[in-house]
Order: sequence, then C-alpha cells, then structure tokens
Amino acid sequence: GETIRIGIAGYGNLGRGVEAAVEKNADMNLVGIFTRRSPADLAPLRPQTPVYNMDELAAHEDGIDVLILCGGSKEDLPQQGPLLAAQFNTVDSFDTHARIPEYFESVDEPARENRKTALISAGWDPGMFSINRVYGEALLPDGDTYTFWGRGLSQGHSDAVRRVPGVAGGVQYTLPSQPAIDKVRSGSRPQLETRQKHTRECFVVLEQDAEPAAVREAIVTMPHYFDQYDTEVHFISAEELARDHRAMPHGGFAIRSGNTSSEHAQVIEYSLTLESNPEFTASVLVAYARAVHRMNKQDQFGAKTVFDVPPGLLSPKSAADLRAELL
Ligand code: NDP
Repeated sequence: GETIRIGIAGYGNLGRGVEAAVEKNADMNLVGIFTRRSPADLAPLRPQTPVYNMDELAAHEDGIDVLILCGGSKEDLPQQGPLLAAQFNTVDSFDTHARIPEYFESVDEPARENRKTALISAGWDPGMFSINRVYGEALLPDGDTYTFWGRGLSQGHSDAVRRVPGVAGGVQYTLPSQPAIDKVRSGSRPQLETRQKHTRECFVVLEQDAEPAAVREAIVTMPHYFDQYDTEVHFISAEELARDHRAMPHGGFAIRSGNTSSEHAQVIEYSLTLESNPEFTASVLVAYARAVHRMNKQDQFGAKTVFDVPPGLLSPKSAADLRAELL
C-alpha cells in the first residue's frame, strides 16, 4: 500500500505524542519535526527523527502529505493555522470552543484557494466527545446531553494557581462528581448546577514565607476559575510535586440520556480514561491525518471538522474489509 508522509509543526507535549503515534501506524512515515526554535535545541523521542526550522517548511511542500499542527490554541494556531493551510493539508486540535467558528472561517479560505484540506479541532474535546454529542442528539431528540471531565490535569487552572502570590508551584485536577454521574446514568435527566458536576483539587508548593490560609483563600475565591466550584487545596513539598504530579492524565464522559416514549429512558455513554492526554490527542490527530489525505485526493477542499469525516476514512482498512470485519 501507499505510505502517508507526515510532518509535525511545533514540538511540545502534543508534538511528542504525534511522533510516538506515527510509529504505531504502519502506513505512515514521519518526514520530520518543524519548530520555531533552533533545531539543535530539540531532543526528539527517536534520535533519527529529522528536526528542521519552521522556515524550511516551504522546501518540503511536495514531500509532506499532511502537516499536523501541534501549536497551542491560544497564541500559535490562530496565526499558524491559516498560513499553513495555504501550503499543506493540515490537522490541528484547536480547542478554544467559543472561537471555533471564527477559526474555521480563517482557515477555510486559504485552504480552498490552494486546493488543500484543513481538519480543525480534532482530539477528544473537541473531537471524539463532539462526535458522540452529535450522535446522542440525533438519535435521542427528546433528551439531555451531559459532559463530565476528569479526573484530569487542567493546564489552564494549573497556570492560574501558579500565578497566585505565595505559590512556588502547583497543579490542579478536575474531578467529576460521582453522585452527579450516577444520577445521569439512572436516566432521570437531572438539572445539574456547575458546582454539582465537578470539584477541583489543587496541590500547591508554598514560597518560603507564604501564609497558607491566605493562599488557600486566594485560590478558592478566584473568579471564573474556582469560585463556582468546591475546591480542595493540599500543600505539598517541591519534591512531592516533582515526584507525584508529572503525568498528564485526563478523560471523562459524554452522556446522552433521552426518552423514546413515556415508558422508556435510554442512556448512551462514551468514556475515556487517559494516562496521557497529549499522547491520546495525538493518536486522534494521526488517524484524522489519514482521512484528510484521502479527502484531499477526492477534491474535498477547505476547512473541515470531525463532523465532516466519514468514520471509515480513519481506518487503514479498506471499505470492503471494514464491512466484513467490523460491521
Ligand atoms: P505545549 O505548550 O507543550 O506546546 C505548544 C508549542 O509551544 C509547541 O508546538 C512548541 O512550538 C512550543 N514549545 C513547546 N515546548 C517548548 C519549550 N520548552 N520552549 C519553548 N517553546 C516550546 O502545548 P501542548 O503540546 O501540551 O498542547 C498543544 C495544544 O493542544 C493545546 O493548546 C491545546 O489547545 C491542544 N489540545 C487539544 C485537545 C483536544 O482534545 N482537542 C487535548 C489536549 C490538547 P515550537 O516547537 O515551534 O517552539
């Protein structure tokens, strides 16, 4: 069969995950990593993986079938997405939910004009959870959709904790509330307040002279981030933080509960338990790169989302094999 040639643009947690994921897909080959930093400063997982500066991307236009954009959603993708979609077929994991419509528009035109296919906002949320929310709504129109996240490390909330005066280091975990999940799973379609659905747990290293009670108060009352939740704050040592909180676990549940008649409730649930959020997200991006490569060959140009991709295109198997084996 044919080999799909993959490039990685940006080498952080997600970029490393893509490098690992390409290894697991026999029909793919990694052309190289492209970074804004000096290539010599990067240590790829596999020493033989070529590393280039982002400036060298143009020279690889004919050598890359799909470029996987691994920059951050806040600063990198709004700038890199439209630019790179003019030159390459792309896949990204843009996850600022409120900005997805405008990001879609910004990528659509350059991709369309240059006969490229740009799949935006893949991953797990947005991504696999989004697909399951659509299935849920379409199959059970008389129903309610519930998304629970965690237990997982939240990058944004961890950053917010670290900015509190007196905090030397720390992480924040989001936890789904078990009583709330149990109620939803029962099919009773509860109305749940923000505070009832999730709790937050912080592990904080204090600066030398910091006052624990003041730090705790500053965290639990922080507007938007913590004030609408019940938050536990644990003070730990720098050694404990380094030893016990380096992994990036995450996951959650996308649940649709609906009624198909006055007699019967139905519950659909999709759940993820992830030891590594970036490695799983990268695995999703790589599967979507296969689909993007195929859609581009079918002249399906412009920006796309996971809603526009038929599931069979994600698989390395042929449509006939899928019918025989998985239907
Ligand atoms: P990182 O901060 O690790 O990396 C982002 C970019 O920063 C990299 O592409 C890299 O670009 C640069 N960078 C990385 N490390 C360094 C460093 N040590 N010094 C200087 N620059 C560095 O972010 P993640 O990889 O963890 O996440 C990327 C995005 O993925 C997130 O913003 C999030 O939006 C998205 N995401 C989406 C999910 C979903 O379900 N849809 C789930 C998880 C994440 P360069 O190499 O060019 O310098």
